[in-house]
Amino acid sequence: MKNGARQTVLVAGGAGFLGSHLCDALLADGAHVICLDNLLTGRRVNLDHLQREPRFDFVEADVIHPLPPKLKAAKLQGIFNLACAASPPTYQADPEHTMLTSVVGTHSLLKLAEKTGARFMQASTSEVYGDPEVHPQKESYWGHVNPTGPRACYDEGKRAAETLCFDFERMGRADVRVARIFNTYGPRLPAEDGRVVSNVVNQALAGDPVTVYGDGSQTRSFCYVDDLIQGFLKLVAYEGAPIGPVNLGNPTELTINELVARVMDMTGSRSDVIRMPLPKDDPQRRRPDITLAGEKLGWAPRTTVEAGLRATIAWYAAELKQAEPAPRQRTAGAALSA
Ligand code: UDP
Repeated sequence: MKNGARQTVLVAGGAGFLGSHLCDALLADGAHVICLDNLLTGRRVNLDHLQREPRFDFVEADVIHPLPPKLKAAKLQGIFNLACAASPPTYQADPEHTMLTSVVGTHSLLKLAEKTGARFMQASTSEVYGDPEVHPQKESYWGHVNPTGPRACYDEGKRAAETLCFDFERMGRADVRVARIFNTYGPRLPAEDGRVVSNVVNQALAGDPVTVYGDGSQTRSFCYVDDLIQGFLKLVAYEGAPIGPVNLGNPTELTINELVARVMDMTGSRSDVIRMPLPKDDPQRRRPDITLAGEKLGWAPRTTVEAGLRATIAWYAAELKQAEPAPRQRTAGAALSA
């Protein structure tokens, strides 16, 4: 998949945060994009600007069910599987569905890739490393996942999805690429998603208490969405020998306390910071080793945390402003009595 022009690609989960940005990038590259989404966590508003785009089609369906016949008949060059709720509160709301989305959904889309010959990209996750005992995390690390805990439906589902991908690859049934995505943020991450960046920025902007889970010493490494999407495009364009899973993320590691301090500073917020219990199995540290992506794909994130947060804060501020009730029109009666 060197050049998007004249390509038809399927983006499963295309109405979501990452999926909608990927649709935009593929369309900008000249591709015809078919977006498949069950709208469980994906949102139509993310695609509103594509309503009149002739190279864009939306199909509402759930990947755990048989794929719609029109998808099976499509001539596809690429399939991107981003279908799965991804924030802990959303994927834990229906854990059985989360697991099936990754396992049944990935299987079904891999079979579509086999049938059509489309190159397949799986959106995997740093969660495959669980609460890592190796730091930073390299692709060769097998991880430390609790298989029966509340995060398992997501972590183990994504691990099983990787297994399916590499079995299809070994058996010559599909040409697969697996991106292990580390924490990503930016415009269109829903305010109510429950992630730390969306929570903290929105709480700070609203003057509400900012919630820090645990003592805030746990770390994450935050990648700006545009950088990640460029990583996806480079991964599917890669023409070398199979490379296995590839970490995509920004290695700049912050404690949650440091993130909160930056957001407070950048928003000028005077919100209180309140401590909440640390969720079960919450990983203590996370930072990607992105050597492989650098060497094989020539990819590295370009956006500093400062610039990424600035753009994200501006987007949420605009969203909040739009949600504000419009100033009340003066009625004729009010005008008369004034
Ligand atoms: N977190 C927090 N306050 C929040 C939301 C999350 O302190 O309002 C913490 C959470 O416990 C975790 C980190 O921030 O340690 C990142 O959480 P997120 O849900 O964004 O991503 P994940 O845990 O999946 O990496």
